[in-house]
Amino acid sequence: MGDYPMQTHETNCAVAEQLSGYLDDELTQQEQQRVMVHIRTCHSCKALLEEMTTLRGDMKRAVHVSADARDLPKVMNDRSARFLGWFGWIALVLGALLLTTFFFWDLAVELLTDRNVPWWVRLGIAGVYLGFIGLFLMVLRQRLIASKTDKYKKVKL
Ligand SMILES: [Zn+2]
Repeated sequence: MGDYPMQTHETNCAVAEQLSGYLDDELTQQEQQRVMVHIRTCHSCKALLEEMTTLRGDMKRAVHVSADARDLPKVMNDRSARFLGWFGWIALVLGALLLTTFFFWDLAVELLTDRNVPWWVRLGIAGVYLGFIGLFLMVLRQRLIASKTDKYKKVKL
């Protein structure tokens, strides 16, 4: 009968039963010293203890990793979500502004530079455009104030 790999570190010593307690600091000082002295001379118990220490280390590391994974959604909600919300809002405003400019700029330039259009009509067109820009900025400002107020209300709740 040859040795099985699983049985390499098994031992018949009585001390072997106390190795788990030795790792967890559950033994009395007397028992702990007995294990320590025994390990110095017994190869199989020493190997078994090293194997157990490695296993415990792996378990502790696994617990640490899962704790980090648990914190991840919290971090995502607190920082990234808020940042993405602001980023989306700013992108939307800039996009709307660019599209508005693109659609109305050519028309405005054509009407304002056309010699056949009387000066007071051109002045009226300029007034309408300036009015639109003013209204847009006012709405933008109101939205910014409203979002700040919403945040304050949420914090208060
Ligand atoms: Zn032993």
